[in-house]
Amino acid sequence: MFPDASDRITMSLDAHVRCTCIRDGKAKPHPFPDRLTFDETGEPVLTGDPSDDDWDAHDDWLGESCEHGGYLLALPLGNITRVQRLRAFLRGLEGKPGPRFPLLLTRVLYDGTHTGDWLASDKSADLLKEVETVLHSRDILAESEKEFFENMKQLCEASIETGNPIMF
Ligand SMILES: [Zn+2]
Repeated sequence: MFPDASDRITMSLDAHVRCTCIRDGKAKPHPFPDRLTFDETGEPVLTGDPSDDDWDAHDDWLGESCEHGGYLLALPLGNITRVQRLRAFLRGLEGKPGPRFPLLLTRVLYDGTHTGDWLASDKSADLLKEVETVLHSRDILAESEKEFFENMKQLCEASIETGNPIMF
């Protein structure tokens, strides 16, 4: 889906981390268990040239597959304006020598509307370090900035706990 320019103005950045119920065998039975697999992001998908009806049945199942509806955590990160402000704020905090925020700047805040991309779970510990560096200076953060970094912290922790990526 490619939103047009007028949509983008109100669009915002969200992130989520999947739970592990399906992988752990704790989810409700899948309608076609033989064809259920996981893609590189840990997303449950169907193999074997599924029809639209097959996907509908799969999607219905996914939404009710466990008490989490498939997601351990889903959090808003902010709209375009907030993302731009956060990017400028982090660039201001960076120094030589001094803190650097490569994952926050290039994988999270590089754009206020990126969706469909993801950060692999083996990067989550490094991202958490960047987030905690900023939270150490929480006194200088505005409320909305604090909310962003606290949400990022929860997402990193959920990703580390589940081994699933942070998806945008
Ligand atoms: Zn679950």
